[in-house]
Amino acid sequence: MSRKKLEAEYLSIVKAVEAHLEEAKESGLEEIPVQVKSAPPEKICRTLDDVSEWLGDCRRCKLNSTRTHIVFGTGSTQPDLVFVGEGPGAEEDEQGKPFVGRAGQLLTKMIEAMGLTRDDVYIANVVKCRPPGNRNPEPDEIAACTPFLENQLKVLKPKIICTLGAFAAQTLLKTEEKISKLRGRFHPYQGIQLMPTFHPAYLLRNPAEKKSTWEDIQMIMKELNLKKT
Ligand code: SF4
Repeated sequence: MSRKKLEAEYLSIVKAVEAHLEEAKESGLEEIPVQVKSAPPEKICRTLDDVSEWLGDCRRCKLNSTRTHIVFGTGSTQPDLVFVGEGPGAEEDEQGKPFVGRAGQLLTKMIEAMGLTRDDVYIANVVKCRPPGNRNPEPDEIAACTPFLENQLKVLKPKIICTLGAFAAQTLLKTEEKISKLRGRFHPYQGIQLMPTFHPAYLLRNPAEKKSTWEDIQMIMKELNLKKT
């Protein structure tokens, strides 16, 4: 098509649009409605079952392809204290329960040293499917899975959240600060006190850090009026 013909076609389209708008104006149209695609409404979860139903047989990130089980979380549905770890390991993936391997046994000992049992607290992770080879969860996996953890915490409304390891603290507090700098004091999280401490798996490799972890745990005990056993 020649340039002249193109210009003529363009002008005829413009004129047709002008005529259409003029007609619409005469019939009372004051502004052109624009259709805005809104974000999907945030899922409202009132119970853990709602969160679990929303999660479903989740395929929202690539960790779904290598998992055996989704590890949702376990424990009291009205806990004062929630522990949040990083992600399931091999045994957790196998059993579908959080913290059941060697690191889990150490966490159980920590909970019992507080005078509590695992049934008194709730235990969950940042990602609910095992990263292959126990690698660190990747940013897209954390982003895909965190809304479910956030909703679990909203439903549970604990007095205190104790994050285990760098990932859980950095994810919930939205910071890149190192765990060694974050631990040892409470941080505000959605109106809840959050205490970051070391991950039990790290403590198994670095037993010298058990002392500082126990100091963090004692601060939690003080807040919850728990007596040393
Ligand atoms: S890690 Fe979370 S977001 Fe990814 S597939 Fe598993 S449940 Fe879904």
